[in-house]
Amino acid sequence: MKAELLYEGKAKKVYQAKGQPGKLVLSYKNDATAFNGEKKATFVGKGRLNNEISSRIFEYLRDHGMESHFIEQLNETEQLVNKTEIIPLEVVVRNIAAGSITRRLGIEEKTHFYPPIVELFYKKDELGDPLINDEHAVLLTNITALELQQIKSKALEVNQELNKLFSKVGVQLVDFKLEFGKIKDDIVLSDEISPDTCRLWDKETEDKLDKDVFRQGTGDLIEVYEEILHRLEAKV
Ligand code: UDP
Repeated sequence: MKAELLYEGKAKKVYQAKGQPGKLVLSYKNDATAFNGEKKATFVGKGRLNNEISSRIFEYLRDHGMESHFIEQLNETEQLVNKTEIIPLEVVVRNIAAGSITRRLGIEEKTHFYPPIVELFYKKDELGDPLINDEHAVLLTNITALELQQIKSKALEVNQELNKLFSKVGVQLVDFKLEFGKIKDDIVLSDEISPDTCRLWDKETEDKLDKDVFRQGTGDLIEVYEEILHRLEAKV
């Protein structure tokens, strides 16, 4: 299924799909990084869990009318996706205050946002992925102002669907990060949606069921990722 390795990121390897020019194989790794790569560790089983969780979420979104680059899960750690020209933006949607927004703006953790807040970060490791505004995004990437509006409204649609999904399984979707790519002139949801890229809190106990347990050293990453997968499998 795989041909040459095109790129290796922090959490995934990207291969050209053999004999399928417009398609890629994403291979999820067991590595975890935080604080722009300063904290690193390996967790046996993490690649499988994120591949499963991301696959279930992309399938759920597809069933609810939202396409993405995802085609199918291939095996425990790999998925087949459409190749997109990646747009170097991290699109963050926030329902509840946590993480960088509390530090940057002095907003108290757990403050609820309605309407949800969309933030844009410029994907550039050397700069530490700075927060940018719409005009910066148009200047720094190959998208138009209109395409940026499409990206933001797609991100809010994803938020609506994922809020419904996670709410059914007793989880609060605090915030998450999306990435988009282009296939010709179409804007396509890409990358992954997993506990690496979302903040997920148990509705009752507010226990963290996401990468913050690794970032903050407060829990067992594999245990909480397993918990998310079990809850999703019971529902999706
Ligand atoms: N996030 C991500 N990749 C990044 C930065 C953030 O997936 O490189 C996710 C993160 O897991 C959280 C959301 O985006 O769900 C918002 O992150 P935030 O800006 O609060 O940054 P952090 O506190 O994680 O540094």
